[in-house]
Amino acid sequence: MKPRTKLEKRVTGLSGKLSAVTEVQKEWAKEHIFTHEAYRCKDELWCSECGGTWIDTSNSELGTTLLGDTTECPYCHHKLDVKVSRKRKVEEEKYMSILQTAGEFQIIRHILCCKYARKRNFDLNSRQDYIHYAFFEVVQEWITVEGKRTIMAKPMNMGSSGWIYSEPLSIKGEYGSYSWNYRGDLYAIWGWIYPRKKLIPELRKRGIGKRFPDVPPQNLYETF
Ligand SMILES: [Zn+2]
Ligand SMILES: [Zn+2]
Repeated sequence: MKPRTKLEKRVTGLSGKLSAVTEVQKEWAKEHIFTHEAYRCKDELWCSECGGTWIDTSNSELGTTLLGDTTECPYCHHKLDVKVSRKRKVEEEKYMSILQTAGEFQIIRHILCCKYARKRNFDLNSRQDYIHYAFFEVVQEWITVEGKRTIMAKPMNMGSSGWIYSEPLSIKGEYGSYSWNYRGDLYAIWGWIYPRKKLIPELRKRGIGKRFPDVPPQNLYETF
């Protein structure tokens, strides 16, 4: 939707000036919101962080590393939870939510974080990418002191099952149009909260409310 009201025009203007998701924020997401696993099939394991594959010879007498064990990747040295699995690729999609401010607004930025990992078949010299990350800012909730919310979001595809990544953010109707009836509030995403938060003083005082009950008020004083 084109911004029509004064409020929508102001939000659109400020939104265009926000800096993109930073490398630091992306690194935090990679480490904290995705799983870090070694997928084990018989005595072979592979790493969700680099795709590296190795044979576990440590306790071949006993046969297997126990489920629930952790191990370390011999290539990238990441600590990993061992999972028994035949899968050769893994896709994860999760949201990171960043709380920040601009002008008189509280903003909640929802970033869809995607991780694609593939097993590397002992071809260690291959230059192919076995791990790939992608980050898409899909929704911004702009909240005034009075609690009025304005949505900037990417459009969704037919059936509202996914975001159209190539499209820019724009003003959206409050409840994501017709799909409101059976899908609920499309834009109130419950992502993993990026730990460095900035809140407008009014929200800091009364807490950010039901949306983030896991953010205790004393933690809301952190600023950038
Ligand atoms: Zn790590
Ligand atoms: Zn690794």
